Amino acid sequence: MGLIVQKYGGTSVGDTERITQVAERVASYLAKGHQVAVVVSAMSGETNRLVAMGQELGGGDASRREMDVLTASGEQVTIALLSIALMQRGIAAQSFLADQIALRTDSQHGRARIESIETEKLRAALDQGIVPVVAGFQGVNEQGAITTLGRGGSDTSAVALAAALSADECEICTDVEGVYTTDPRIVEGARRLQQITFEEMLELASLGSKVLHPRSVEFAGRYRVPLRVMSTLVDGPGTLITLENDAMEQAVVSGIAHAVDEAKVTISGVPDLPGIASKILGPVGARNIEVDMIVQNAGIDGLTDFTFTVKRPDYKATLALLESVATEIGARQIIGDNAIAKVSIVGVGMRSHAGVATKVFDRLAAENINILMISTSEIKISVVIAERYVELAVRALHEAFELATESVD
Ligand code: ADP
Ligand code: ASP
Ligand code: MG
Repeated sequence: MGLIVQKYGGTSVGDTERITQVAERVASYLAKGHQVAVVVSAMSGETNRLVAMGQELGGGDASRREMDVLTASGEQVTIALLSIALMQRGIAAQSFLADQIALRTDSQHGRARIESIETEKLRAALDQGIVPVVAGFQGVNEQGAITTLGRGGSDTSAVALAAALSADECEICTDVEGVYTTDPRIVEGARRLQQITFEEMLELASLGSKVLHPRSVEFAGRYRVPLRVMSTLVDGPGTLITLENDAMEQAVVSGIAHAVDEAKVTISGVPDLPGIASKILGPVGARNIEVDMIVQNAGIDGLTDFTFTVKRPDYKATLALLESVATEIGARQIIGDNAIAKVSIVGVGMRSHAGVATKVFDRLAAENINILMISTSEIKISVVIAERYVELAVRALHEAFELATESVD
């Protein structure tokens, strides 16, 4: 028994029937004596629909402030619907928009960061046996303007709420039964992990596993919130995100992530001189474009090539910026490719195992997949490949590292 924050994702509240099922699930927890606070996403497809309308009218230049007002509306619908469904079952419930619990963020519209939450009203509701139903994804800045936390951000709302309320657990209730060795929609034999470390989960989420919003994992690690991913519809233990992995699950590779929203640009024939990286990347950073992998080739005859990746929506803006940089520094050519993908293997066990990278390269070679870029860190290896090979690469690596089979030390 204790306080549990439950977050229900888009599919889980996708229509009124599913919302009724969520109300039943909440009721079953209350019946066991738990206190429950709920965070919900917009109905599945709704945020996409709203974004598309905003873009239709405003193009890429649509005001980010107004896009946030627009997209935050999706969650307003579901908090009301779930509250109504709970009340229909005789359960006292009350919806809360971010503004009503002073869920304060910074002012970066579209990717705001949570700074604080006022818990008074939520506690008062819980104390009176009322289930608070809080809108995920949204916040308010210091001026009272609506902000949003970035796509998938309701996970972060839930973890932040759990931290603020010192909840006993935060459950991310979704359309899969936990965190799998890779996206179960791509690899049929993907295996649910009983547990995974925060460190690995943060890498997987940041590298494209959309089952958890990266910042939710960061928050849970920082505030020690017990975090569990589980299915809304199928009973089961799900996956616990833990501080330490116990020996049972100590595999070299824990999971594989992929991301297809990437693009690559190369600026070639660049003078190989001090300061060149900052001349190229400075203007990109100044436009708030996030740069991911960066590779500079060895200089030959005083010239070098410089390649980096950005998110696909930033591709055109990056190319346009580089046009003027290229003229300024006298580069030869700009080459872009926006049909690329990044596939990454992650595991804390990599720290103590050699030969992991070789296995990745060998297997991709055997599949005839050309590697365009490589980046490694202590617990991950990422490769950039052509987008059309992404599923093949994920399946091949899943097999190469025998992830479908339970590892026993
Ligand atoms: P929600 O709407 O509930 O937030 P999401 O679509 O954001 O759900 O996240 C759940 C989806 O994440 C799953 O349907 C699955 O396709 C995808 N996914 C990607 N990688 C993984 C993984 N390693 N384990 C589980 N699910 C994953
Ligand atoms: N509704 C938002 C989105 O689709 C937030 C979320 O689902 O977590 O990105
Ligand atoms: Mg999600």
